Amino acid sequence: MKAILLHGINDLKMLDIPIPQPAPNEILLRTASVGICGSDVHYYKEGGTGGAALDKPFTLGHEFSAYIESGKDKGRLASIDPALSCGECEYCLEGNQNFCLNLSFAGAEGIDGGLREYVTWPEKAVFPLPENFTPEEGALLEPLGVAIHALHLGKIFPGMDVGVFGAGPVGLLTIQMAKAAGAARIFVTDKLSHRLEFAKECGATDISLADGSEAKNILQATQTRGLDVVFEAAGDDGSAVETAVETSKRGATVVVIGIPSEDKTSFTASISRRKGLTFKIARRMKNTYPTAINLVSRRMVNLKPLITHRFSPQEYREAFEKAAKRKGIKVFINF
Ligand SMILES: [Zn+2]
Ligand SMILES: [Zn+2]
Repeated sequence: MKAILLHGINDLKMLDIPIPQPAPNEILLRTASVGICGSDVHYYKEGGTGGAALDKPFTLGHEFSAYIESGKDKGRLASIDPALSCGECEYCLEGNQNFCLNLSFAGAEGIDGGLREYVTWPEKAVFPLPENFTPEEGALLEPLGVAIHALHLGKIFPGMDVGVFGAGPVGLLTIQMAKAAGAARIFVTDKLSHRLEFAKECGATDISLADGSEAKNILQATQTRGLDVVFEAAGDDGSAVETAVETSKRGATVVVIGIPSEDKTSFTASISRRKGLTFKIARRMKNTYPTAINLVSRRMVNLKPLITHRFSPQEYREAFEKAAKRKGIKVFINF
């Protein structure tokens, strides 16, 4: 089978490798669609992400769907949860699988992901999808899970004014989640104007280019009251965290989802102290697949606007370069 392996910085190669054999608790999957995530691009351009570094060639891709090739659901399209928690450690037992001490994660830290024709994966982390799903929608359930987890941390109630700063894939999904949860107004900022157009399509009520004027605009629009909950989904240099602090109302919650490129973030201490803000840092997600499947199959979340580029496996270099340029929203490699 063909597999796309990362050998080093800017060094992806397509190789022929044997089809894997499923272990007793695993099933064989034929990969359908793989979404390229910002963290995949960090691996490709920098050799690692947020402290994790590359020590041997491996296959990227943690956002993926596949056709089930063995077992009772043979032939069905499924979404794959790339995170395998142990179920036995202190954190798993307290219901925080995202903090599992023995977590393995497909497409990160040397564990092979979905950018190969066949994958074996434990059946418990394979979610067969209803008929009305496309392979790309199946691949998007992983980033949707990140947005679902962020929404749980933010505790949105109907009528709240909410901020989503950063309108990349996770930001756009967080906008949709906030809308589904009943947010009255959703203020969205991004440095890239084309992303703000996508944000409107996803339910943003007020958009503002992140050019230094956004905090003033938001405070004006809320009669200086500020926002009930802010989700920071920009990453980059951490400036969106500062905007979140400036635009939060007193006692608000700021949920930090973005991964800053310099691995540091900062904000003005005095403003956040006077407002008594609560910061919550989102770490991946918990058991979000059943909820994600419900949201998409009942069309409460629309994944279609996020699907902007499609490539064949042979075009893997173009696909990664396209994702690195951040021109569209989500780039897919379809097998
Ligand atoms: Zn991702
Ligand atoms: Zn565990």
